[in-house]
Amino acid sequence: MDKRGELRNKLEGTKAFVLDMDGTIYLGDRLFEETVPFLEKIRETGRDFYFFTNNSSRNKEAYIAKLHNMGIDISPAQMMISNEVIIKWLLENRRGERAFVVGTEYLVNDFLQAGIEIDEENPDYVVLGFDTSLTYEKISKACGFIRDGAPVFGVNADWNCPVEGGFIPDCGSIAALVKASTGVQCEFFGKPSRHTLDYITGHLGLKQSEIAIVGDRLYTDIAVAAGSEVLSVLVMSGETTHDMLRESEIVPDIVVRDIGELGEYL
Ligand SMILES: [Mg+2]
Repeated sequence: MDKRGELRNKLEGTKAFVLDMDGTIYLGDRLFEETVPFLEKIRETGRDFYFFTNNSSRNKEAYIAKLHNMGIDISPAQMMISNEVIIKWLLENRRGERAFVVGTEYLVNDFLQAGIEIDEENPDYVVLGFDTSLTYEKISKACGFIRDGAPVFGVNADWNCPVEGGFIPDCGSIAALVKASTGVQCEFFGKPSRHTLDYITGHLGLKQSEIAIVGDRLYTDIAVAAGSEVLSVLVMSGETTHDMLRESEIVPDIVVRDIGELGEYL
């Protein structure tokens, strides 16, 4: 069978696509020209699409607004963010406990809106987010609580976040600083954690085999589907180079140039 036929077969049972954002549907503030036709193709073929971002420096509303400004209107249910994954888990497993959050105002507000109490003096646990408002005081306090025995949870494992002209340190790097100081490695919740896979299947109400996850980063977007029946699709329009792919132990089910090519197989 040729590549086209093979990929068509693999995608036949896919009822919903979960799309990464940066490097997958846009780069920074530039929407890829393939994005809107691809989303239309998904709809035309009777499928659904959702977005999932690991970026815990923002919130769901900020992403819905960003998409709106790019001409893409979605319902709140179509936008998923790592913040929701950790908050859902905390509500189920740490209900009534108080958090110290190393995070932006967006992340802190998501916690408050979910009814989780913030405690700056005597918290039950510490949460590390992609805190672009990080201060030495905040990180020192967090390390102190952890040294005193508070468990620590990380929202997303990314080392860096792509920005125009390069990268800035993300939550994984902040967690590495905390580990260097305290010796404690946090547990992460966004992609590629099992928490996220469970969150996505629950949110979509579909079987794993009916879901395809599309993204440009091997260790998050593709790794989240590893060991599951979820189909992983790597797009080469973001950070992964052909050399990185060749050397990677994480192997995507499908590799395409960009979502435009993926649309040809639907
Ligand atoms: Mg990406």
